[in-house]
Amino acid sequence: MKQEHRSLTEISVLQRISDAIFSINQDCEITFMNKAAEELFHLRTEDCIGAKLAELLHGVIGGDFNEKLQQSFDKQTDIHFEINMTAFQSRWLSVHLYPAADGITILLRDISVNKKVEAAIEDKHKKLALLSEASSHLFSKNEPEEIFDSLFKELAEYLDLDVYFNYMYDKKTNKLHLMNYAGISDAVAKEIEWLKMGEAVCGCVAKDRMRIIAENIDTSDDVRVQLIKGLGIKAYACHPLMSYGKLIGTLSFGSSTRSNFTEEEIDLIHTICNQLSATLDRICLISELRRKKEEAEKAYAAKSEFLSMMSHELRTPMNSILGFAQILQEDQSEPLTLKQKSRVEKILKSSHHLLKLINDLLEIGKMGSGAHNIIFEHVQICSVVTDSLKIIRPIAADKGITIHNKLGPNAGMYVKADPVRLVQILLNLLSNAVKYTHKNGRVVLTCERVQSHLKVIISDNGIGIPLEEQKKVFDPFYRIFDKELNIEGTGIGLTLVKQFLEQMHGTVGLESTPGQGSSFWFTLPMVIDNMES
Ligand code: ADP
Repeated sequence: MKQEHRSLTEISVLQRISDAIFSINQDCEITFMNKAAEELFHLRTEDCIGAKLAELLHGVIGGDFNEKLQQSFDKQTDIHFEINMTAFQSRWLSVHLYPAADGITILLRDISVNKKVEAAIEDKHKKLALLSEASSHLFSKNEPEEIFDSLFKELAEYLDLDVYFNYMYDKKTNKLHLMNYAGISDAVAKEIEWLKMGEAVCGCVAKDRMRIIAENIDTSDDVRVQLIKGLGIKAYACHPLMSYGKLIGTLSFGSSTRSNFTEEEIDLIHTICNQLSATLDRICLISELRRKKEEAEKAYAAKSEFLSMMSHELRTPMNSILGFAQILQEDQSEPLTLKQKSRVEKILKSSHHLLKLINDLLEIGKMGSGAHNIIFEHVQICSVVTDSLKIIRPIAADKGITIHNKLGPNAGMYVKADPVRLVQILLNLLSNAVKYTHKNGRVVLTCERVQSHLKVIISDNGIGIPLEEQKKVFDPFYRIFDKELNIEGTGIGLTLVKQFLEQMHGTVGLESTPGQGSSFWFTLPMVIDNMES
């Protein structure tokens, strides 16, 4: 067999091409090969011409190279495929087959570098995917155990991991406590449940706050790795978990199938451990806040329960004092002397005051406990004002105070409110206006629309409130000039007014000038179609 007959120009071009080229005839015998082919397969042209290509490359190129050759020749179609060179590990060839009637031209290009780059890109991509997967676990889960377990699952697959240990630092004992783990039995976990600082790899990491990467553990004499060596671990990475510069624990991953980690993998573990520390911080903070909130709620509930229990206990004897005092006052069969009458009146007055105080305390006790059941109804403002004035007018008349109802046409408006609470609000504000206004003063009621709300204003020409005190009057038990004025009161009324209004989506406020008077106002949402009931 002779070398294929080609023109000199053709041959010189083919020889200069950097891709390896073979030409074979119908019997698969080599008729031409270029220098690049010689170099790629360490062959000499003179030894190869006439030889069967398949035999020459036997054991050098893997896969179905021969079948592809046959297929291309039989079907007379160009075929392209990639194949690895079994003789030279990790080398890849891109193969083009160009068939003709008398044979095939084969073009082989070394694509090992491209393959390596592709693999590196894929690896990076995997790493990024793993990191983003890890972050999503960190943000979506709130239980450390769930976080560690799902993180380990992801990493285990990627890094061939078999175990993970998460120790948390226990301040009281100055030891590490195994909190979460995988890949060991519960019995083994019990044995290594506690580690002293400086004991084994995790103890050393905790003590020095420095990561340890232990490799080739199966052949190591290092005392620190003997514990994990006993578990069959060959490669081990342990990281400290830190929060604001303080040690909170350690996290370690181990493999019993591989002896070491690559730099990239160590970096990856490092990044994940850092993210994890931040997440654990978040979880600790949330559980601390939750604990404090629960404590505060418990304390509040206990206080409310105490108040309402006391109020109930006080109300029963109080009502009987009132009842018997009234019987004494009204008993015609044994009329009282004038002196006795005046004393019974004092008993009644004080008892009423005490009963109001008890009732107010009961309301305060209900606050925050959810016991205030607000019922929303469409309430016409003039009807609740009329009800309230019936109660207040006689008290005002005793002091010579006149109450002017100047609600005007807006009095027909409906608001969304609880009628019982609304009367309580009006009674509190009106009785305050009367209480804190001198004899023969005047109280005026007006109302106006403010966007979707109705504003009711109760103005008096009483003692007024200094500016610095105006906000405080809504605080529980807050009273101004309590001692000086000697006016009966508890300091709860306005607290209740504010609370009720907030529950009914309303607001409350005041304007006042000391010595001239005060205007307390409140707003409530109006019923949109105001004429309905
Ligand atoms: P009480 O009237 O039982 O003391 P409140 O909570 O109703 O309790 O009021 C708190 C304080 O606000 C009162 O003690 C009083 O000093 C002041 N105050 C309330 N209403 C008026 C008013 N119309 N004029 C002047 N001061 C008032």
